Amino acid sequence: MPTFDLGPRRVEYAVVRGTSRRYTYFRFKPDLTLEVILPRGGTVDVEKAIRERSHWLKREFERLSRTKNVLADDLVMLNGEILRIVFTGGPEDRLVPDPHGGTVEVHTKDKLQLKELVRRWFLRESSTYAVRKVTQLAPKVGVKPSRVDVREISKWGYCTRGGRLSFSWQLIALPERLREYVVLHELTHLVEFNHSAEFRRKLASVCPDFRDRERELDLIAPYERLAPP
Ligand SMILES: [Zn+2]
Repeated sequence: MPTFDLGPRRVEYAVVRGTSRRYTYFRFKPDLTLEVILPRGGTVDVEKAIRERSHWLKREFERLSRTKNVLADDLVMLNGEILRIVFTGGPEDRLVPDPHGGTVEVHTKDKLQLKELVRRWFLRESSTYAVRKVTQLAPKVGVKPSRVDVREISKWGYCTRGGRLSFSWQLIALPERLREYVVLHELTHLVEFNHSAEFRRKLASVCPDFRDRERELDLIAPYERLAPP
């Protein structure tokens, strides 16, 4: 793989040609190698294109290298703590988190079921959390949501004009202050259905340090969409 220097780091990159894009596009993969995606036709000086975007690439590389993943090969984030998944046999499907020991034991017959078990466990825990937290915080924001659920969505939270709030099944992965922020953010949308200055004022009135929490949340990468059920 060709490389380029980004400050003190040497970064590998791969060139992808012949896409339907109209412009050169850069994307870091999870292993922090770079993909340079070229538009169809025309010739692009790749090294020059990289030099021209070096400022953005450096910022993005730094952000991604500080990012923590919710679910990796044998690691899972719970309440903001990274726990090691320990596979343990057993006839009954069961998960036993041990935050002090830094592990979560997964009891199951079938090792291939492991991620599915983690997903179901997260779904249940996130759902309990979301319902409890929305009930607790809705009066503070002064709104009455029509419905709360937890689903497989690509964002942390989502809401409709009809007052339905949905949260990611991965919500429970986040530390308390960040998932509380996600809940407050969505509840505030029931007052202001946009991200206007008014929305941010309202959000600040119930969550004064919301900007810090947004920045922290930006450093946590949700697990990619799993194969549809
Ligand atoms: Zn929003």
